[in-house]
Amino acid sequence: MQALFPTRIVILFSILAGVWGCVTNPVTGKNELGFISTEAQIDIGRKNYIPAQQMQGGQYKVDADLSEYVTSVGKKLATHSGIDLPYEFVVLNNSVPNAWAMPGGKIAVNRGLLTELTNEAELAAVIGHEITHAAARHGAQGIERGVLLQGAMIAAAIGTRNQEYAGAMLGGAQLAAGLVTQKFGRDAERESDYYGTQFMAKAGYDPEAAVTLQKMFVRLSDGKRSDWLQGLFASHPASQERVENNRARVAELRAQGYTGGELGADRYQRAIARIRQDAPAYAAYDSARKALQEKSVDAALKEVDKAIALQPNEAQFYGLKGDIRRLQDKHADAVRLYGQAIQRDDAFFSYLLGRGVSRAELKQRAPAKEDFTASLKLLPTAVAYNELGKIAEADGNQDEAVRYYAAASKARDQTGQTALASLLRLDLPRQPARYVKSELINDGSGKLFLRVSNGTPAALSGVQVRVALRWAAAGDETFTVDVPALPAGQAVVREIPLRKDSLVAGEATTVAAHTR
Ligand SMILES: [Zn+2]
Repeated sequence: MQALFPTRIVILFSILAGVWGCVTNPVTGKNELGFISTEAQIDIGRKNYIPAQQMQGGQYKVDADLSEYVTSVGKKLATHSGIDLPYEFVVLNNSVPNAWAMPGGKIAVNRGLLTELTNEAELAAVIGHEITHAAARHGAQGIERGVLLQGAMIAAAIGTRNQEYAGAMLGGAQLAAGLVTQKFGRDAERESDYYGTQFMAKAGYDPEAAVTLQKMFVRLSDGKRSDWLQGLFASHPASQERVENNRARVAELRAQGYTGGELGADRYQRAIARIRQDAPAYAAYDSARKALQEKSVDAALKEVDKAIALQPNEAQFYGLKGDIRRLQDKHADAVRLYGQAIQRDDAFFSYLLGRGVSRAELKQRAPAKEDFTASLKLLPTAVAYNELGKIAEADGNQDEAVRYYAAASKARDQTGQTALASLLRLDLPRQPARYVKSELINDGSGKLFLRVSNGTPAALSGVQVRVALRWAAAGDETFTVDVPALPAGQAVVREIPLRKDSLVAGEATTVAAHTR
C-alpha cells in the first residue's frame, strides 16, 4: 500500500543516501560538515534542471543568440569559481525578474530580469552570485539542513496558483520546485555577494556594477512592484546593507589591483535588443494571462491577439490562445493553435498537454496519447497521467489504466482526487488485498485478533476478509469476517474466538472491498 501514497520525505531521502562527513567548500576553502558529495549535487542538478525550467515558462527561444550570450558571460565567470562543475546557463521565458541556481551548477536567468539590467557587468554580478550558490554548496547545505522539504511544499502551493497544470506536479518535479525557490539564509547570501563580486573582477568586469545592481534593487524594492516581490526579492530581500557590503568589497578588490574592468554597456544593449523591442508584446501577453485568471475571456483574447501581432514568432502567445480556446470548448481551434506553438517550440510541456486534452475531447485518442506521453518527458503532471489512464481504460487496457491512475492519484489536488476515485473503481474489486491489509495478531495473552486496515484515503464498505486457521487436532477451518464500513485510512480490530485446541497456523486475506 505504501507505494501508492508516498510522502515527499521518501522522495528526498531516496536521493540522499549519503553519510555525514567533512567536506571542503570549494569556494571558501573551509571545512564543513555535510553528506552530499559533488557527484550527488551534479546528479540532483542534472535530474531537476529541465522540470524546473518547464514549470517556469520553459526556455526563451525567439532570439537564440540571447541564451548563447548569457552562457558566454556565465562560462567566463565559472572558470574562477574554484570548482569544475558541469555549468549550464539558460534564459527562461518568464517576465518575472528572477534568477536561480541549482546544485551542480545549473543556472537560469529570466527574460524579465535581463530587461532590467543596464550592462554586462551587472549581468555578471547576478550570475557570479548564482554561481557561488552552486559552487559553495548552498543548495546542498539547504538539503542537509532539511529546509528544502518545506520549500518543496511551498513551491507546490505556489505552482497551483500560477500555472494551471503545475499544481499537479508530481514526484521529482516537487523537488525541482523546492530547489529553485529555496531561501539560502543571510550568511549564504553574503558569501554569494562576496565571492560573486570577486569572480566578476577576475573575469575582467568592473566590480562596481555589483554596487549599482544592489542600489537598483533597493530603489525597486521601495516601489514594491509585485513582479519583483514574487521574483528575485522573494529569496533575496534588497537592503542598504548589501549595497554597503558590496561597496567595501569593491574597495578591497581595487586595492588588490582590479581597476581596469569593463562594464560592457553597448554589448549588453545589443544582446538584449530583441527582448527590449518585444517588451510591449510580453506586456500584452502577461495582461492576457491575468485577464484569463480573472475569467475575463474576451479581454484575454484581445490582449493575446495583440501580443501575436507584435511578435508572431513567440510560441507562448499561441499556447495561451490555445488555452483560452480550450476553456471555451473550441477544441478544434485549440488544437490548431497549440500546433502553431509547438511548431515554434517543441520542448514545452504545456502546449503538448493542452493539445492532448483538446484532442481527447475530440475523441482523437491515439494522437492525444502521443501528446500526453511527450509532455510527461518534460514535466510529470497528474493531468497527463490521469488523461492517459482515461485513454487506456477506453481502449480496454485495464492494467495500463490502473498504472496511470495510480501515478496521477499521488497529486494532492482535484485531479489527484479524480484519479484516485478511478483507480479504486477499477482496481479495488480486482485486487482488494492490495488496498486493504488484513493480519492476524496474537497478543501473547492467549487471544487472537484480526486487524483490517484501509490503506486508501477513501471510505470503504462491504469489506470481506477470509480467515484460514489450522488447528492441531481439528485441522483446517475457514470463515469470512464482514466489515460493513471502514473509514478512510483507518483500521478495525476484531477478536477471533479461540478453541481449546492449539492453533498451528493462521492467515487473513481481504477478498472484497468497495468504495462507498
Ligand atoms: Zn542569492
